[in-house]
Amino acid sequence: MACKQGYHRTSGIDVQSACRSGHIEQGEVDLGAQPRCADLVGDAPVALKYLLAFFDSGAAHPLSCAIKVQTKVRVACARCLEPVEIPIDTTSQVAFVFSENQAEHVDPSFEPVLVDESGRIDPLTLVVDDVLMSLPLMPMHDYDCVAPQALSSGTTVDDEPRKDSENPFAALAVLKKTGSAQD
Ligand SMILES: [Zn+2]
Repeated sequence: MACKQGYHRTSGIDVQSACRSGHIEQGEVDLGAQPRCADLVGDAPVALKYLLAFFDSGAAHPLSCAIKVQTKVRVACARCLEPVEIPIDTTSQVAFVFSENQAEHVDPSFEPVLVDESGRIDPLTLVVDDVLMSLPLMPMHDYDCVAPQALSSGTTVDDEPRKDSENPFAALAVLKKTGSAQD
């Protein structure tokens, strides 16, 4: 992680001039080859298509960028825990800020992005951030996959007999008793 800033500094885009000139940056890269994305693909390469449209919005924090990403991520299904492929096709907007204080005042429809003193950002960092923010919270197969505990019939690690102190019904009984005593 220590090399991250140095790596981006030379290859980055100058935010101010990009926004003022309406710079468009687009391309296609291998999703699995991007930092922080190696866990989102299987063995086959997956294309990550992106389009960044820099613009000067003229508002209080004018330096902005519309980001469009298209890819497909491979994540664990929330129900059966097997891999499931989820398409990602999103458009979002970021506002470039130069201090934490500025970031707090950005319009809620924009995601603030802090630019360091170099004034440059790496377009692929923005793209990868967008992919990671677009990951589904509860990814699931679109068919009726089966939860793993339903597959194993009988013995599970939860089969140990509970002690009375751990029995939720015992605790409930105690609560009921104290409740009625106060009445
Ligand atoms: Zn599933």
